[in-house]
Amino acid sequence: MAGLCQGSNEFPDSLQVIRKGVELFGDHPPANRWITHHKDLTCSEWRDALKMAGNVAAVRAIPGKTMDNNRCSYCGSEIETLPHVLGSCPHGEALRNTRYHEVRSAIAQALRNTGFTVFEEVHGLSTTGSTRTKDMIAFQDHRRDFIIDPTLRFETCKSQPQDVH
Ligand SMILES: [Zn+2]
Repeated sequence: MAGLCQGSNEFPDSLQVIRKGVELFGDHPPANRWITHHKDLTCSEWRDALKMAGNVAAVRAIPGKTMDNNRCSYCGSEIETLPHVLGSCPHGEALRNTRYHEVRSAIAQALRNTGFTVFEEVHGLSTTGSTRTKDMIAFQDHRRDFIIDPTLRFETCKSQPQDVH
């Protein structure tokens, strides 16, 4: 999949938004195996996933998609980009929350399958007395303890995981 990234700089500046989703394809081939082995997806799901990964899904921010304006057609509060639709538009909040809980539970189950004890949605008090919630606390024989708060984001660049810290 690295080939998809290699020619991407040939896009003119006005179309650079299109290449954002493919920048990370070559970094972790097992996670991107669905691109060539799509047996778990219908043809329609696979086609839509490719469009979203390549950032060419039909949103108003893509050049040529709309003649009047590029504001979100549901909430109008922001430019209708794929990250807005998937990550912050109030119209999809229920679906986004459901997806988040499914991903958190899948990570918790994967950790349990490797011998970790995992607690989800752990509530506690900080040293200042305010309440805090951690998505997961995982430990294994008191050797390795982790506090895990997964965040689902639209991948925009290779440095994104480091940029949030
Ligand atoms: Zn919106």
